Amino acid sequence: MTSRNQQLFELSQKVIPGGVNSPVRAFKSVGGNPIFFQRGQGAHVWDVDGKSYIDYVGSWGPLILGHAHPEVVKTVQSTAQNGLTFGAPTEAELEIAELICELLPSIEQVRLVSSGTEAGMSAIRLARGYTGRSRIIKFEGCYHGHDDALLVKAGSGALTFGNPSSAGVPEETVGHTMVLKYNDLSGLEDAFKKYGNEIAAVIVEPVAGNMNLVAPKADFLASLRTLCTQHGSVLIFDEVMTGFRVGLGCAQGLYQVKPDLTTLGKVIGGGMPMAAFGGRRDIMQCLAPIGAVYQAGTLSGNPVAVAAGLATLKQIMATGFYEQLGDKTKQLVSGISAAANKNGISFSAQSIGGMFGFYFRKEIPASFEEVMECDKDSFNRFFHLMLNEGVYLAPSAFEAGFVSSAHSDVEINQTISAAEKIFSAW
Ligand SMILES: *Cc1c(COP(=O)(O)O)cnc(C)c1O
Repeated sequence: MTSRNQQLFELSQKVIPGGVNSPVRAFKSVGGNPIFFQRGQGAHVWDVDGKSYIDYVGSWGPLILGHAHPEVVKTVQSTAQNGLTFGAPTEAELEIAELICELLPSIEQVRLVSSGTEAGMSAIRLARGYTGRSRIIKFEGCYHGHDDALLVKAGSGALTFGNPSSAGVPEETVGHTMVLKYNDLSGLEDAFKKYGNEIAAVIVEPVAGNMNLVAPKADFLASLRTLCTQHGSVLIFDEVMTGFRVGLGCAQGLYQVKPDLTTLGKVIGGGMPMAAFGGRRDIMQCLAPIGAVYQAGTLSGNPVAVAAGLATLKQIMATGFYEQLGDKTKQLVSGISAAANKNGISFSAQSIGGMFGFYFRKEIPASFEEVMECDKDSFNRFFHLMLNEGVYLAPSAFEAGFVSSAHSDVEINQTISAAEKIFSAW
């Protein structure tokens, strides 16, 4: 008998490429079929066959309050009743803009968009417009959305410009993008020595969360700041994932480095399609309608999305929110590490705020190359065994995981017990 899940996947593949609307959902990396979800509540999700899971994906980051948080749902419902979209300014947009500027001192002005991709793409265009330069630097293993200019892999030499990492991206489009190694200060210094005054922007995930989790080494972010200031380049922190995930002050607050521009997404939309980019007033003033850099969106600042974002931000501003979230995430990470260690499995793990990384590698990786050394087969096996036990981890060894405020000691302990069971029979 085929499951409902299996049926839906087969039907979906006929009308949706690969059966999914975003590639990582397809389980290609871990094998097997993706799970079709039916509902979510708090830390739990249910699939179309009625099986429940403790969720550590949280829709890839937005759900810091867990699924269907009552305050968020209530606000979304009442806002929707008054009209879904106007394509005209609303008071709630002012409210969320003021709140973002208050929480992040580096942001003096902010513009709302509908996805992290849009935020990154717009920030790059703005930095280029502001500086009048074309070249940009990104880091291997960081993801900033699927904007053409950022779909790039390292070129063949150390200081060469990149090659497209996707078909359909012309070489000329990425011809201005240089890909450097994350956490490698000397590469950065060399690049600035050679091209310094031509570099419009450096875009970086201040904590890398798209190659599993890689923390910035001491001085990496501070040196980026110094070099960008020296050369008049715009420093862009892509905080689409880390924003309000690693702390109320985001990664820039945690590491005390002030970018010129910041991109936000995921958590600030509270589960609705909303993202933002913002930063220094003199740079943001280059945007249309006052400046010459064009950027627009029919659904930008959508009232229902803004309402979900505002409701979420109000919850995470509660005293002690991040202490609790961080403690719980640490508890999860240390419990699973202990289970692995006890059974002699080559494993390490770490967490920063409400995000975590599990690595089938003796030591915590600090670079893309080291992440690539993790044992992917072991992860895939662990992933499927955990799934069997009712724990939903990201279906790839190269993604960070997320804990929400709805995860209680009960769910954390159940997860650790599941890992203990799996590792003791490894
Ligand atoms: C998710 C993510 C993006 C892209 O956001 P979308 O809303 O999926 O377009 C960009 N940057 C980072 C760091 C992300 O994690």
